[in-house]
Amino acid sequence: MDIKTEQFVDVARKELKNDRNKQFLGVLPYGITISRQRSMQTFADPEAANDYGRAIRAEVIARLSELLEEFEKNAAANGAKIIWAETAAEANAFVLNLARERGVRYVTKGKSMVTEEMGLNDVLQENGIEPFETDLGEFIAQQLHRPPFHIVGPALNIPVEEISDLFIAKADMKEPTTDPVKLGYAARLYLRDKFHHLAMGITGVNMAVAETGSIINVENEGNIRLNKSSPRIQVSIMSLEKVVPTMADAMHMIRLLCRNCTGQKLSAYVSIDSGPKKSDEMDGPEELYIIILDNGRSKIYQDQQTREALRCIRCGACLAACPVYCKIGGYPYGWAYSGPMGQVLSPLLIGLDRTHDLFHACTLCGACKQFCPAGIDHPKMFLYYRMLEAQADTEQKGDFIPDKPAKLFDLWSWGAARAWRWKIAVKTMRPMMNYHAKDGVIRKTVAPLYGWFRTRDLPVMAKKTFHDRWTKIKKSR
Ligand code: SF4
Repeated sequence: MDIKTEQFVDVARKELKNDRNKQFLGVLPYGITISRQRSMQTFADPEAANDYGRAIRAEVIARLSELLEEFEKNAAANGAKIIWAETAAEANAFVLNLARERGVRYVTKGKSMVTEEMGLNDVLQENGIEPFETDLGEFIAQQLHRPPFHIVGPALNIPVEEISDLFIAKADMKEPTTDPVKLGYAARLYLRDKFHHLAMGITGVNMAVAETGSIINVENEGNIRLNKSSPRIQVSIMSLEKVVPTMADAMHMIRLLCRNCTGQKLSAYVSIDSGPKKSDEMDGPEELYIIILDNGRSKIYQDQQTREALRCIRCGACLAACPVYCKIGGYPYGWAYSGPMGQVLSPLLIGLDRTHDLFHACTLCGACKQFCPAGIDHPKMFLYYRMLEAQADTEQKGDFIPDKPAKLFDLWSWGAARAWRWKIAVKTMRPMMNYHAKDGVIRKTVAPLYGWFRTRDLPVMAKKTFHDRWTKIKKSR
């Protein structure tokens, strides 16, 4: 997948005019938040459950290298082959060479953000190996050549009519339909055929248990289980922070993950695999490869502040909490990770210079931080990135404060320095602002100067200030 984070502002502007997405995004936070809160209440003590989860993620970060070594040792003892990949290119090359060596013509994939991060589909396709996404949403997004709209529902926003046309064109569906069950059935028929002749399946990993060397996947469709059990060769790809210390920890994190992802106490399928098929077992792959991907994470880990980003468990709860995501949706983020999760991860993975608009597109309201079961302080991270950027700017130019805001603030501080100046300014500005606000034209007049107003109008202000009214009340007593 091409990285398009630099186009954030342009795509966001376009998405703000997309009425269908706007309607959909208007209801998204309520539905998800209500079901999330309801399911969290099923914990005897929801706050303690969250604290325990945050403590597990903190322990993972503190003991990361030790846990990874333990996982490697135990997974290898189970019969899995462990591959350490420093970069996405290395991981892609391994998968490609393996597929070529075994004469594989196509692969099926379970939903996996890390393979989106690696751009694995493009690499396979360019080299003549067809990748089939088997998660329904990912399948639709792949066929439409669009990035995921939402981490949990990559094609949540696509109208059924469009899906119907797509399935007729690309998934052998015969009749148009808007019935979601029939659409699901059509995708199932098409993909089942791929599973029947499958040689190699690729999945991500939700958790890798150091204590047992097991890998865990959670899902609701059963496609990951088919990806893990149908082929002779299975490749599971994990970014290195997916490790957890013990099976008990993994069980708790799964309970938190499912509640925060979809509002379920547990997803429909939880697959725990410890090595390839044993001689007395009927199902499972003959060969299991687990790729542990670094792709810049070791560097992230070296900085005490940025290593916090590695706590993320990709639950997506922060997306529904974010007022920015809930206006623009997932496309503007231009890569695998969207919402606050993407704003935290993408700058570290692909560079602050390519993601400037991402970590500035935040009001620092802190809603994401409140929701995050991993305990990430997103606003603090954004401020840190802004500071690093300003430092780099200062080193380059000697002064990072642009002229226009500096002059504006000079004027502001001059006006605010004396009460009489402030009063005159407020009295003069108020009718002017109200004139524009009432007619909704502030956006058109001020927008060219200041981006904030491009998509916002100020509300009409009260005719009198609180101070005026208070003085009048005092005088009347
Ligand atoms: S940042 Fe926190 S809330 Fe957002 S996806 Fe990651 S774990 Fe979930």
